Amino acid sequence: MKLVLKFGGTSLASVKDIQNVTNIVSKLSSENEIVIVCSAVDGITDELIHISEQIKKVNKKEANRALAKISQKHKQFTTHIVTDSKIQKTLLDKMKSDLSELEELVHGLLLLGEVTPRSFDYLASFGEKLSINLVSFALQQLKKKSVPLSGKQAGIVTDSNFGESRPLMDTTKIRLSKTIQDLFDKNTIPVVGGFSGADQHGNTTTFGRGGSDYTATIIASCIDADEIWLMSDVDGLMTADPKLVDDAKLLKEVSYAEAVEMAQFGAKQIHPRTFEPLVSKKIPMRIRSTFDLANTGTIVTASPSAATKKTVKCASAIRNIGLVDLTGGVLFAAPGTAAKIFTLLADINVNVMMVSSNPSESSISIIVKKSDLDRAVNALEMSLLGKTVKKIVTTPNVSIIAVIGSGMSGTVGIASKVFAAVQKRNVNVIMIAQGSSELNLAFVVKDNDCKSVIQALHEEFELANIN
Ligand code: ASP
Ligand code: MG
Repeated sequence: MKLVLKFGGTSLASVKDIQNVTNIVSKLSSENEIVIVCSAVDGITDELIHISEQIKKVNKKEANRALAKISQKHKQFTTHIVTDSKIQKTLLDKMKSDLSELEELVHGLLLLGEVTPRSFDYLASFGEKLSINLVSFALQQLKKKSVPLSGKQAGIVTDSNFGESRPLMDTTKIRLSKTIQDLFDKNTIPVVGGFSGADQHGNTTTFGRGGSDYTATIIASCIDADEIWLMSDVDGLMTADPKLVDDAKLLKEVSYAEAVEMAQFGAKQIHPRTFEPLVSKKIPMRIRSTFDLANTGTIVTASPSAATKKTVKCASAIRNIGLVDLTGGVLFAAPGTAAKIFTLLADINVNVMMVSSNPSESSISIIVKKSDLDRAVNALEMSLLGKTVKKIVTTPNVSIIAVIGSGMSGTVGIASKVFAAVQKRNVNVIMIAQGSSELNLAFVVKDNDCKSVIQALHEEFELANIN
């Protein structure tokens, strides 16, 4: 089989983890053609983002401290992962050269005291630039031929929308399939850095947080892979969070559309555009754990077998988020009110997770991340209170509950079952939303009620017997 294996940061968190990864790859490579896609070592992307914030504050000391931490960690990994002295020397040289490029970049940006979207992407891409060296050289130590490639070196070409770029698929396909085929012909395992590519001028771009998943599906589509595996620290997609429901079950099979919805919730956060490149090629994806290969995880396909087409497949929650209720003043029901509210929030970079408004147009309810709540309310108060808006009320501790499953679409009675289950637990529903895809029915309750509601829904739809 032609396989694309993507390893998340938590699968590369320690020397032992990286050795586990390379052992898995080494075994699989005797029977399959493999491309590996790596995230950054656990926590490194966060550290790079921290550095970019310190640069903006011209906090040289903190930026340098974080830089030293990254450098030290990778050097320490290098000496422990590769013990063969010749391979170790080559790896150390490569690491030193990549790390000094990073240092130069940070020092340059510190002089400017400025991080543009373009330089941010260049900086943020270093986590993967470094992690691929570790994995590729560790494979060489296991006597496997392998090369590390950044997204740019592999041939991923994107638009110039820094921070949230999109691949130019035709160009990418031509370049990438050639790079990879040449390596396959030489029996060499490509280890590609996720998350980034380069625009047509050669500037490094990134796909946004969690973008390595997207890299993996772009590659899978370009080389017509047979399967793609997203390997992380979760067993797969579940009927509910096992921390909330004791008999939560692993879902054996779900559709792309369901996985997109579930990815917003659950333990395995998947980059929202991950499935785009797979849909036309219908390449199956497995979501499985690096730490338990006996478990084959969840398979995500274009059209799951009829046996797995249950109406409802999971009950998930996004916890600890904030609710803002805006009640109308004189002009609230006029055209443009919603636009004003959303523009204000967009300007301060607050993402609106859920919205609902009633036909009387007397109020609008908005859900945002708890960490954005203060800023959101502040901006709305400053610009709209006393004018368009009469009253702003916030509720800081709520949860979104979502019931997900493609069989819900067009099935009568799902909503009544959902709310009857909620009522049995005596829980008040604060807000409701359902998109027209009908794949997902979402509502908001107080966070204190979250566990009880998820358990009630899990029982009501008999999710423990799903497989
Ligand atoms: N390293 C990047 C991030 O943490 C990309 C990824 O892990 O998928 O967002
Ligand atoms: Mg990550």
